[in-house]
Amino acid sequence: MAHVHVIGAGLAGLAAAVKLVSHGHQVTLYEGAGHAGGRCRSYFDEVLEQNIDNGNHLLMSANNEALSFLNMIGAEDSLEGPDEAVFPFYDVRTGQHWLVQPNKGLIPWWIFDKARRVPGTKPTDYLSIAKFALADGTKTVGDLVTRDHPLYETFFEPFTVAVLNTSTAKGSAPLLWNVLIRTFAKGADGCRPLVAREGLSQSFVDPALKFIEEKGGTIHFNRRLREISTQDGSITTLRFAKDDVAVDRQDHVVLAIPPVPAQSALPGLTVPTEFNAIVNAHIKLPPHNRPNEHQLLLGIIGGTADWIFRREEIVSLTVSAADELAEKSAEEISDALWNDTAKALSLDVFDRPPIRIIKEKRATFAQTPDQIKLRPKTKSAWRNLWLAGDWTDTGLPATIEGAITSGFRAADQVR
Ligand SMILES: Cc1cc2nc3c(=O)[nH]c(=O)nc-3n(C[C@H](O)[C@H](O)[C@H](O)COP(=O)(O)OP(=O)(O)OC[C@H]3O[C@@H](n4cnc5c(N)ncnc54)[C@H](O)[C@@H]3O)c2cc1C
Repeated sequence: MAHVHVIGAGLAGLAAAVKLVSHGHQVTLYEGAGHAGGRCRSYFDEVLEQNIDNGNHLLMSANNEALSFLNMIGAEDSLEGPDEAVFPFYDVRTGQHWLVQPNKGLIPWWIFDKARRVPGTKPTDYLSIAKFALADGTKTVGDLVTRDHPLYETFFEPFTVAVLNTSTAKGSAPLLWNVLIRTFAKGADGCRPLVAREGLSQSFVDPALKFIEEKGGTIHFNRRLREISTQDGSITTLRFAKDDVAVDRQDHVVLAIPPVPAQSALPGLTVPTEFNAIVNAHIKLPPHNRPNEHQLLLGIIGGTADWIFRREEIVSLTVSAADELAEKSAEEISDALWNDTAKALSLDVFDRPPIRIIKEKRATFAQTPDQIKLRPKTKSAWRNLWLAGDWTDTGLPATIEGAITSGFRAADQVR
């Protein structure tokens, strides 16, 4: 069987490698960094003195490709979430708490139940969601729902920013729709929130590396691809920082690195060119200043944070589409996010513990109508080159589900 060179050990490259080795292919995986996982991994943090995730990652129970990946690598039990599809929210301006709680089954009767829908909204307000089904590729979320819509601030904005990492004004309406029909439209079974119980690496990365090696794959770290040489429409050589690898005629290459290094290695590629930041804060709460209730997830309205996650004594906050915030100092960001945390979890605001701020300036590509047009297909213009990564054209946003789908697709097309 063909030898497949997979470049990049983020989730896209890992998914491709896992699927290929499981079908008996000889796989060599090359990763530029000293560790795998890319934008979805855990590491030991010196400030907090414990393992944390580089960023909070939320999955949904309808993320079938991600769940199938976990199943393949034997990590299917490593996620946790509530038994019900329930999204608690808190408004930092008014102090109001509420739940958005879709029901089981395909008929969305939850919008007729005041206790399950957003407070102050009517069932007819939810009809605007249907407009998304008909939106063409040029439409943004902001084109379909304006700021004065009763669900703008409490539903469309938090979910758009979380799913697309792009503001409602710029985020693609059809791309958001693709997620809504796969999750909320399936009722509670499709939109139960899930997070990695221990850490992202423990769920997605370490078991995948073990699986690849056990199936005979080879993994090289600190092998950064610089250039790809081609001849007569085929890839012939992979030029790494320190050495070259010849690609035989019958071999294949899966390129699963982000768009900027991918285009720099192979300038003929078309790739998205604009990116949005995500800012994360990790706070280790001291024993005397912790909330009584253990809540995995809390949506924040009217503050700086978008979502608060909780894992044991660590509280982590996410701010998506955060280019402006990412320009501020870590101290300023910490103040704003601690203020949200203390209010939302009823903590002593003056007892601010150490906070680790992580700014990912290129967290995802900007998921706007124009940038989406630049997403390339899996099959490239070169005979033996296949593209993977959350930025390739999966029809899904740049998420774990998108990255794993892209890797599986590349593996299927190689096969
Ligand atoms: C802070 C943050 C929060 C997020 N939150 C969520 C969330 O809640 N839910 C969700 O589903 N998704 C979320 N995402 C998105 C998700 O992390 C990504 O979509 C996914 O991890 C992308 O995987 P990938 O394999 O496509 O790319 P990457 O993870 O970027 O992997 C690419 C790999 O290629 C390597 N590489 C780069 N250049 C080279 C080179 N020249 N040679 C060799 N190797 C190279 C990199 O080191 C990396 O390991 C978030 C992302 C961030 C940054």
